Amino acid sequence: MMEFINIKGNTWAACGPVNIGAYVFNGEAVLIDSGNDSSSGRKILRLAEEKNWKIKLIINTHFHADHVGGNAFIQKRTECGIAASAREAPFIDMPEMEPEILWSGRAPKAISNKFLQAEPSNVTLLLRPGTLIEGWGLVIVPLPGHAHGQIGVLTPDGVLFTADSVISERILNKYGIPFTADHCSAMETFDMLDSFKADFFVPSHGDICEDIVPVTDANRRCLNALREEILEICSEPSTRDVIVGKLAQRHGLDMNLPQYVLIQSTVAAILSPLIDSGEILCSFNEGTLSLKSRS
Ligand SMILES: [Zn+2]
Repeated sequence: MMEFINIKGNTWAACGPVNIGAYVFNGEAVLIDSGNDSSSGRKILRLAEEKNWKIKLIINTHFHADHVGGNAFIQKRTECGIAASAREAPFIDMPEMEPEILWSGRAPKAISNKFLQAEPSNVTLLLRPGTLIEGWGLVIVPLPGHAHGQIGVLTPDGVLFTADSVISERILNKYGIPFTADHCSAMETFDMLDSFKADFFVPSHGDICEDIVPVTDANRRCLNALREEILEICSEPSTRDVIVGKLAQRHGLDMNLPQYVLIQSTVAAILSPLIDSGEILCSFNEGTLSLKSRS
């Protein structure tokens, strides 16, 4: 049974498939993310009501449906505000943009499901890096990589909610290929987190920890290994789809359209810096884009 547990001082988390944060002051609460869908929203609202918390604001770490899916339900019931970074906000207001971008055009219905497209909700506050949420002392920490405009939230208790910037090792081992929108930014975010001073770190997927370094290490190793795998696959001229297919086979993934677009997108993010640095060369062979490692 999911419930809010106290991490430290006024900082709480309800741990489940997606960990939901709360910072509570004088009976008023700021939530960090809202879960998968309206039923998660309903559950979170009930847990807050049991504690006599009044939800004033939801801060969304990024727009992915499992983080914003409860927004619409909670906002309708409480008229709370919703805060997000400028790059994530349009996807929360217009969630159909996510399947459209993943597919590179209007998406088939199989992708436009609730796992990739949340119900729309209204962002009322745009967050900039370093923004201090007035009256609450919550600091916005940019964590780009997994999503372009992803942010973390540092509470006055020294608890950093790290969103999907890192995933606990046990979950990383299960997924194999963590979704990445920007490979270079993800790596920079790992380095930044290594020297970040906080008493507790709360990833959205996985366990609350006091030392983030082993977690960033595991995530860094995972992304580096994926990069090496792609370079190795491209020792033979390969298309993007061939790379996706070979990775899916190597990692034993069950493929379907949503899984396909997510892996394809991550592969694209890893390829870009390799193409920019000349480590992978692009050419067209009978009209088909062919990618080949330089060596
Ligand atoms: Zn995510």
